[in-house]
Amino acid sequence: MENIQDKSIERLATCLQSYLNLQQKEKAEIKFLAMVARLTLQKIQSGTDPVINSKELFLELFPMGDVKNTSTKLANIWRNVPDFQVSVRNRVSEYAVNNCQLEVYPWVEKIESDGGAGNLAKYRLIGLAINKAEIASPNVYRKTLQHDIEYTPVQDFKPSWLARIFFDKEFEIIGYKKWMMIFFPLVEMLFYILMIIVLLIALRDQTLANLSLYKIGLLIAAVWFFISTLRRFERFADDRIIITSDHFMAWGELSIVQEVVTVNDENDNFLYKKVRLTKYVGICPICNARVELAKGEPDFPKRIVGRCKESPREHVYSFDRVTMLGNMLRGFSIQENKQ
Ligand SMILES: [Zn+2]
Repeated sequence: MENIQDKSIERLATCLQSYLNLQQKEKAEIKFLAMVARLTLQKIQSGTDPVINSKELFLELFPMGDVKNTSTKLANIWRNVPDFQVSVRNRVSEYAVNNCQLEVYPWVEKIESDGGAGNLAKYRLIGLAINKAEIASPNVYRKTLQHDIEYTPVQDFKPSWLARIFFDKEFEIIGYKKWMMIFFPLVEMLFYILMIIVLLIALRDQTLANLSLYKIGLLIAAVWFFISTLRRFERFADDRIIITSDHFMAWGELSIVQEVVTVNDENDNFLYKKVRLTKYVGICPICNARVELAKGEPDFPKRIVGRCKESPREHVYSFDRVTMLGNMLRGFSIQENKQ
């Protein structure tokens, strides 16, 4: 007979696993949580108690590791889990409600040992309460609109140090900082204008013979930056979502979006607006790779599109932040399995 409790733990583990699949698994804490979920599923399938002990977890994570280091190594990773939890819990909650039909969100709990010799900590899957006020309501469009891909917001990205100072732990801002954020491009533009004026004055008295190419170059760069900042400002004002400024992304990050989100209370009354950084990802229906948002240019100007990691120029999808759905933009369509 199937154990009801195991059944619900199985659902939690499956949900956590599929959520973490959307993340880039470079972070140690993501690998850690995904491994606990995987081992939990294995244990349920083999009919054993779904509690994971440190040693088996350690050996899966560090196959070459020395088991003597189990507690230290795992404790080092576990130390970062609470911060990671704060940054992703709303996203995991949304995923749990929307994609797994759960009332709680899946997470991992550490069971401390009672300290006896050789007694190591254990880990298990638990369901935690969802803060309904903080999460987006389930996607009502997915049933009514035909789509090729569904996007999920994940909090899995590398922000720059500037973004860490500016945004809170959940990468959201409200109040005066929100206005600073919105007007930050204006300050940037002012800086470029000043630069242009200074350079024009410096170039004024020069003749063709002693013309400084260096200053001309700087001038062209300043004009170019001014125009691109102006365009971004317009775009954000119109669309309320843009790929965020390079200032807020760590080196190598490309697809963090900055968006204005309206926060309503439980009765759908308007409370306030906030600006947040987030990342939307989906799974490519053609090749199963991760799809991330990117600028549509040059083929899809003024649009944010989803580009597959494996084939970023061919597996391209539309992105609609209202429906969180997208369709292929490259002409192929998924063939229905007609019998
Ligand atoms: Zn693909």
